[in-house]
Amino acid sequence: MVTKDRIDQLAIFTAPPAFDEPLHVGRPNIPDRGRLIARLNDMLDRRWLTNAGPYVMEFERKLADLLGAPHVVAMTNATLALELVADALAWQGEVILPSFTFIATAHALRRRGLHPVFCDVDPRTHNLDPQKVEAAITPRTAAIVGVHVWGRPCAIEELEAIARRHRLGLVFDAAHALGCTSGGRPIGGFGDAEVFSFHATKVVSTFEGGAVATNSAELAGRLIHLRNFGFDGEDHVARLGTNAKMPEVSAAMGLGGLESLSGWVEVNRRNYHDYRAQFHGVAGIEILPYDENERGNYQYVVACVDAEAVGLTRDQLRAVLWAENVLARRYFYPGCHRLEPYRSEVRDHSPVLPVTERLTESVLALPSSTAIGQQEIEGIGRIVRLCLEHGDIVRRRLEATAVPLNAVAPSQAPSPSRLT
Ligand SMILES: *Cc1c(COP(=O)(O)O)cnc(C)c1O
Repeated sequence: MVTKDRIDQLAIFTAPPAFDEPLHVGRPNIPDRGRLIARLNDMLDRRWLTNAGPYVMEFERKLADLLGAPHVVAMTNATLALELVADALAWQGEVILPSFTFIATAHALRRRGLHPVFCDVDPRTHNLDPQKVEAAITPRTAAIVGVHVWGRPCAIEELEAIARRHRLGLVFDAAHALGCTSGGRPIGGFGDAEVFSFHATKVVSTFEGGAVATNSAELAGRLIHLRNFGFDGEDHVARLGTNAKMPEVSAAMGLGGLESLSGWVEVNRRNYHDYRAQFHGVAGIEILPYDENERGNYQYVVACVDAEAVGLTRDQLRAVLWAENVLARRYFYPGCHRLEPYRSEVRDHSPVLPVTERLTESVLALPSSTAIGQQEIEGIGRIVRLCLEHGDIVRRRLEATAVPLNAVAPSQAPSPSRLT
């Protein structure tokens, strides 16, 4: 690692990068290899590769314990899981959800023929603003989908009260929130159902994977049919299903992940505190806080950049970091409502989303996870502070040299992670 003390040492001004290897957001966590390989050998010996095999059943049981929900149905990914929940609950019409989420939340609903109604979020929590949710309800509203962004819980009680009052469905996209709590209770047991993701970038991965947690035996039963072509007996198909079964190899990976989860969270938590210390008292940047009274997974370290105070935009800061091989990421940019097909459908009466638009311009997720530690965080902190202390000079130099802000990292490495 090269330490940067002066602006002319920044890689974006053609000096060597601080890091030889790229530092990623959401670099996959790898569980104990010996145990994984032992499980794979057992699986091959059994020749039971999919269709509710023993690893999938064990993974579902262990998830149910962790998530505090009696029923867990494992799926191929969270996107299909959400589609099947919307199907099983027979939603029709409009569904209120945030635009500040990964595009999959909206796509899953839209692919069910539902009409996503994007609602603004609370600037403090980054999650759905309950007052704005209530204002968005129409006679066509079927349900609300909240997202526990960064693993920080939605305003669950308020949303539950609204859903009860208006007789709406309520489901949470808990893709970020494995192992997190709200009011001390595990996320997984709220609403009609909660949907988890085990994509490679999430804290526990099954390569690709997802699961639905629910208190309803009836809903779980329907999901079990839906994920398996609608079969409810050997030769009997009860409804229009699809194929969303989690294979055994994924569940084997997931079981190892659950065994390692507390250790990974400990590393994430330490990284988060190291980052907080780097930017403590620094004007113009804040590491989004986690509530220490809740259990969290600390998978995301999110910097909020105040461009006016700093003299640099978030994208300029990001370009500086990428040149140093620090692959910090914009999140949910530019917002679902600005992506297709929703962008083309924006109508005159579509709600304006000022908080969402501000967040998509100001948040920057920083590399964390088991792949990095204190030394890297100090190096990153130093680069960012250097930029902030000399924000105007850095900005003027960037503008004078017309450095493209979609800069590519020096390693040119394709990212193993995507923006989820
Ligand atoms: C990752 C993610 C998804 C999609 O999960 P997949 O398992 O990749 O389908 C949905 N919503 C959010 C908020 C996510 O971060």
